[in-house]
Amino acid sequence: MTFDVMEIRKDFPVLRRTVHDKPLVYLDSAATSLKPQQMIDAVVAMYTTHTANVHRGVHTLSVEASDLYDEARRKVARFVGADERATVFTKNGTEALNLVAHSWARTHLGPDDIVLFTEMEHHANMVPWQLVQPDIGCELAAVPIRPDGELDLDAFNEIIRTGRVKLLAVSAMSNVVGTINPVADMAEAARRANPDVVVVVDGAQSVPHMPTSLAELNADFLAFSGHKMLGPSGVGVLAGKPEIMETMPPFLGGGDMILDVKLYESTFNEIPFRFEAGTPMIEQAVGLGAGVDYLSALGMDNVRAHEIAILEQALPALAEVEGVTVHGPSDPKVRGAALSFTVDGLHPHDIGTILDREGVAVRTGHHCAKPLIRALGSNSTTRASFYLYNTTDEIAVLCDAIRAAQDFFS
Ligand code: PMP
Repeated sequence: MTFDVMEIRKDFPVLRRTVHDKPLVYLDSAATSLKPQQMIDAVVAMYTTHTANVHRGVHTLSVEASDLYDEARRKVARFVGADERATVFTKNGTEALNLVAHSWARTHLGPDDIVLFTEMEHHANMVPWQLVQPDIGCELAAVPIRPDGELDLDAFNEIIRTGRVKLLAVSAMSNVVGTINPVADMAEAARRANPDVVVVVDGAQSVPHMPTSLAELNADFLAFSGHKMLGPSGVGVLAGKPEIMETMPPFLGGGDMILDVKLYESTFNEIPFRFEAGTPMIEQAVGLGAGVDYLSALGMDNVRAHEIAILEQALPALAEVEGVTVHGPSDPKVRGAALSFTVDGLHPHDIGTILDREGVAVRTGHHCAKPLIRALGSNSTTRASFYLYNTTDEIAVLCDAIRAAQDFFS
């Protein structure tokens, strides 16, 4: 498949609809991506042809559903360079991070250790550490963000110099300011300071938008969401190193995750099944596999190149709209296509409402990253986020819609 955005758009049925009689301009892919027909067909085929529970039946439908589910795991693992044994399907990206907090952190950290995350994190990579901290008695620390939207690496180096950072949790790409963090370098520095450190990467924004692999990130765990990368909602992924996952106790208990159950004690299944209690998200995982097929056929380098091309036009175009301030790095090479901006004198909620009337879908608010938004000196922004199906023409529609909002409220 070559990267022809007009051809790609034909695969996304929702792009055929209008909103308030205007063509839909979907700029909210950082929240969730649109879905290609190929993925929808894969999910429909599960319900129309292969309906069965997995890993439990000898009948044909169950064997087929199990094979498709296992195949989806292989595809997803390959996509991020992970071992399929250590690729766990979760409910979403949030649950993947909670799994590490409740299973690994609770059992491997102690009062002398520091859990280091960053001020830039989504709440999903902050709150789980806060939840387990009182039980562990460890210290929490956060790398501050600089006004330009990049991490303060001097502060980072100072904290890791203590040698006490045993868990580093960092996002590969910010969902608010788009910053691509130097995760591999940070991981290397953290390992030099403490060889026992475990590096957890929140890949919810990077896996859908740029080539992302466990090895290149120098990570021990990589968490991401299916619904942001052309898959259905209801499925996320925790990919990790098998030798670490093998040391982890179950997070949730129930069917499928056991070897044997007696009345008052149980033994547990091997990985990854130990972490998939109960009936898994069968159709969603297969759908995610189809989403991964779509992205793999396009090539993640091409997806990234398309978004850089969009950024090269969107950043100057937005800067030209009077009163607009775009947050985060200004160099498209070090940022993703999530563009948070503020407009002098206008509340993001009002901007979002007027943009919707123009058919433009953006997100407004704190984007589940309140500490980051506060560090920007704000409590709310408007975010336009682009993906592989967006065109450069849509940038002009966005800018005109912002001007329309300014006119409306002037
Ligand atoms: N981390 C980041 C950077 C995100 O953007 C999101 C989703 N907004 C999450 C984590 C949480 O993902 P999910 O909604 O799939 O739980």
